[in-house]
Amino acid sequence: MAETQKISRFQANRAFALLVLCFALLFGTAVALLAHDQQAVLDGVARLQQKTVPEIVRYQRVARNLEQMRQEGERIFVIGSAESRQQAIFVVTLVASHPSIIDHPQSAALAREVEKFLSAVHREAGEDQEVLKKHYPEWLSLASRLSLQVDDVAIQGVNLTTADLSSVSASMQTARVKLLSALLLVAAFLLLLVYFLRRYLIEPLQTIDRQLSSLSVDRPEPEFSPTPIAEIYSIEDACKQLHASLLQNEETRTELENLAHRDELTGLNNRRFFMMRAEVEIRRAHRYERPITVGMADLDFFKRINDTHGHAAGDVVLKRFAQLLGDSVRQTDLVGRYGGEEFAFVFPESTVEEAGALAERFRQNFAAQDIRLPNGISVNITLSIGLADASHCPLEVALRHADDALYEAKRQGRNRVVISDKAGGE
Ligand code: GH3
Ligand code: MG
Ligand code: MG
Repeated sequence: MAETQKISRFQANRAFALLVLCFALLFGTAVALLAHDQQAVLDGVARLQQKTVPEIVRYQRVARNLEQMRQEGERIFVIGSAESRQQAIFVVTLVASHPSIIDHPQSAALAREVEKFLSAVHREAGEDQEVLKKHYPEWLSLASRLSLQVDDVAIQGVNLTTADLSSVSASMQTARVKLLSALLLVAAFLLLLVYFLRRYLIEPLQTIDRQLSSLSVDRPEPEFSPTPIAEIYSIEDACKQLHASLLQNEETRTELENLAHRDELTGLNNRRFFMMRAEVEIRRAHRYERPITVGMADLDFFKRINDTHGHAAGDVVLKRFAQLLGDSVRQTDLVGRYGGEEFAFVFPESTVEEAGALAERFRQNFAAQDIRLPNGISVNITLSIGLADASHCPLEVALRHADDALYEAKRQGRNRVVISDKAGGE
């Protein structure tokens, strides 16, 4: 008990609220982090749509223009007439000054270089094809740079897309990890909750249920393992108090029973209870046709003890008598205080002869007792006993026969056992 007091307890509703708060915080954080990642994915997709795609289109346009410039250049070297070449030069100049080319510095520089070169070749050549042939190898080198630039620009467009897609994919990856972690967190929390519910609520309640259903005065005080939950502790404590009050009630009941059934001075059955139990014994004997004997005993010259040594001395004698009687009779025999110094007996399963032998032995023993009175004087007291067969007659009749026999014992000089010769009803 003292050990359980040391445990610090908390209210189950507070613990539950705390648990819910922790869960809400953790889960809320996980959801916020997930929302952040989702926003990153959405931003990435929006960027792809609004910025990257137009950018790619712009790169494609640059690439197409550069390619056109290369084709026009090629044409200049195969065209015979200066006029047709002039047209091609015009196209090259147009393309080189196209906004998409101007916006792309590398391409713009190359385009200007190509335009200058072709214009210079055109001016120098006039109608002379040989000049064109002379500059053709230079053109081939420029044309190959143009092709390379076309590839470069195309790759730059692809790279832009790849970068955006990679960032979206990275955000999705982290979102996936966070989602998994959040789910694991929820699962762990639920497992923990189930464990705590079982360990600290369900199991103690089951124990309480078991202890309550077997709660009785014949069993020891219910025992519980220490609990940290205040409400459970209160219920367990209430069970212990219930057990204590059951014991108390039982004690009170026994005390009341004793008061109702026992004689206060001697502790023997009182007359009313003796008669009740004697009636039961007689009926049983009659039903099974078993022998049964009743008896009446009376202390001899008891009044003298009172008169000589006082009433308290008489009480001591009565108590001593009752004590010896209790020690001498069998467990199954029934003894009661019938009146002042008169006692009644029932000997089940005994014939009058058997009961007579028992009564005689007791009479002798009692007569031999030195009874020490409160004033220090020891006295010897005798008693007279009357016995009667009750196997075939009602209790009252048998007791009357026994009383008659007792009277006869007194008449014959006391300190003796007399057996009634009457065996049935009158
Ligand atoms: P006998 O041999 O004829 O039985 O003589 P007796 O003196 O025993 O008979 P009697 O009936 O004249 O006296 C019984 C006395 O027992 C009278 C009464 O005061 C006494 N007595 C009855 N109950 C108690 C009791 O509870 N305590 C004490 N001390 N005396 C009691
Ligand atoms: Mg007497
Ligand atoms: Mg008497």
